[in-house]
Order: sequence, then structure tokens, then C-alpha cells
Amino acid sequence: MSRKRVAVLGSTGSVGVQALDVVARHPDRLEVASLAAGSNHELLADQVRQWKPAVVSLATESAAQALRDLLGAEAPEVVWGDDGLMLATTGAAADVVLNAVVGAAGLSATHAAVSRGIDVALANKESLVMAGELIMAAARANGATVLPVDSEPNALHQCLRGTETAEVRRLVLTASGGPFRGWSADELAGVTPERALQHPTWKMGPRITIDSATLMNKGFEVIETHWLFDLPAEKIEVVVHPQSIVHSLIELVDGSMIAHAGPTDMRLPIQNALSYPARWAAAVEPLDLVASAPWTFEPAEPERYPALGLARRALDAGGTATAILNAADEVAVAAFLEGRLAFDRIVPVVAEVLDTCDVTAATSIETIFAADAAARSEAQRHLGG
Ligand code: MG
Repeated sequence: MSRKRVAVLGSTGSVGVQALDVVARHPDRLEVASLAAGSNHELLADQVRQWKPAVVSLATESAAQALRDLLGAEAPEVVWGDDGLMLATTGAAADVVLNAVVGAAGLSATHAAVSRGIDVALANKESLVMAGELIMAAARANGATVLPVDSEPNALHQCLRGTETAEVRRLVLTASGGPFRGWSADELAGVTPERALQHPTWKMGPRITIDSATLMNKGFEVIETHWLFDLPAEKIEVVVHPQSIVHSLIELVDGSMIAHAGPTDMRLPIQNALSYPARWAAAVEPLDLVASAPWTFEPAEPERYPALGLARRALDAGGTATAILNAADEVAVAAFLEGRLAFDRIVPVVAEVLDTCDVTAATSIETIFAADAAARSEAQRHLGG
């Protein structure tokens, strides 16, 4: 059997590094077609030497030149910028694109891949939050599969295998509740970026860690789940599960519940997305049931986590509303991390931007990026004022 060629986008980030670890564990099944990174040319140079990809991309021309200088005669085709990311996505004969680009930049790559019928193992949830309707339509039209790498949607994907949509009563996404579960409003107002970056169960990048603390991340996953499984938002619920062991569950019409449980290790969903429809021997140590007990569940109170209601409101509004939500959140989280915005003001600022910006139909990727840009400047205006 020939090996599956994987394009790893965002290869020097947390998910990208873990994806390459999964590739290393399955040398007979996987190979690296291309790598794309932001600015970390030193780590990328090590990855190029190990994986010998045909195409390598970096965010800027200077980073691309620094990589060429480091690699010398060993350098493959080194490209940069948006065009470079496109070449790494579609120009290296990849069978699957593992998209772990951080933020809105990942959307173009997802769209380019599915438009050419290339399967996407999706860690860049912005792709579906911003443009789920367009991405899923392009995937259907071109015979591409979008496989979630995000652990909770991936868990749902596993629970739903062999189940008809008509048999599903509801999907339940679990949320850790973040590092401030149980904190008072006063305590939340004084949260520092350093404190917010300490997630209790998952090790992730800064934006998603803050989004996990506000539960905006879970709101995004409601949107992601809606598009992935074509189920209405009313059938997608969120429950707080502080141990992050049950990654999500489904409830069927006969009252049965099917849960997905496993260690909190991203290599599990990454490998699952790359191996699908097959299932390969474990990349990680299995869960110790007794040591992991107890597993507890709590309601995700709407007044405690207003980001959840806001995400549902944006999904309801449709069109470009979820792109506006994502852009406003990205700007507000960055402002918090720079010490320019209080933690408990992140979600209110996003709500204000969502109220102010015009929502239009999501007719093209260009419409989405225009809404994204307008929402960013509106968010900056709110922060400046
Ligand atoms: Mg998740």
C-alpha cells in the first residue's frame, strides 16, 4: 500500500509538532508532502532535514531567506506568504492537508484544498467558524472529506460512525470550563494574561487557551459541529466536564448515549483524522479508568459563560455573522494578552462588534474576508474608544 502524503500546515506550532510525531510513529503509512510555518525557520529547518518535503513555506520573504541560508544545498523549494501557503497546500500532491494554521489565515488553505478534492484534517477551526457553509459546500461538490482534528468534534465524528442522522437526538460537546471555573465576577475582572494562559488539562497555543477560559472556544465548536455534521444548533449542547476525559458524546432517539473517552493528548485525534476510515495502533498510552476517576459533569451556565450564547446568536444570524464573531474575538483576545483589555471585557467587546457590523450573505471567500476585515477595524475602534 502506498503511503498517505500529508501536507502539514502550521508545522512548528503545538498541533503541527504533534502531527509530525504521529507521522514518525507510522513511517510505513504516512509521509510528509509539504510543510508550512509562520516565522520559526530554525525549527522548520530541523523538520525539513528530517522529513524532506517537496515544498516548504513560511509567512514572510525574510523568514524564507533565513531558511534557505540555514539549509544551503539541502533546501527544497522554499516559498512564502499567501501564495506560498497555497503552493504548500495544493502543489505537493498531498492526499490530505493537516491544517493547523492559527487564525483566519488558515481559511484560504482549507478552501483551496477542498475545492481541489483534497481531504482536510482540520485543526484550524476558524475555517468552519468563518465559512462553514462555503467550505462544506465546496467539499461536497469536489468529493473532499473534512475530518475534525479538534478533540471534541473528532470525538463526535467517532461516536457518529455507523449512526443515521435521524437516530440522533442531540450531540453533547464537553468543555473543561477553563482555569476560572467557579470564580466570582470580581475575581474574573482581575485575571492576568499569565494566569489565563495556564489551562488545567490541555497544553495549547495562547489564543485557544484564552478562548477556552471564556468558553468562546466551545461556542466556536458548536458552530464547527453544526457544519461538520449538518445538525441544527438546538441539537448541539455543551456540558462542563472539568477532567477533559469524555471528549464528547451523542444521545440517540432510543435514549442510548455513546461517549468518547481517552487521554488528553492531541495525538489521538490527529492520528484518528489521518488514519480514517482505518484505525491504527495507539499513538498514546490508553486511559487508566480507575486513576482517571471521578468523571464529573456540570451545566454550562449561560450567565456564567455569555460567549456560548453569543456564538449561538451569530450562528442563528447566518451569513458573515460568525466571521465577524471570530474576527472580533481574535482582536479582543490579542488586546487582553497585550494588557489593553480586562479579561471580563473580552466577550462584551465581541458582542458590541457583532451588534455594530453589517451581516451579509456568505457568497464567497472574498465576502468572508471583507467581513473579517471590517470586524477587525470595528473591534479596534471599540478598544481605542
Ligand atoms: Mg476542542
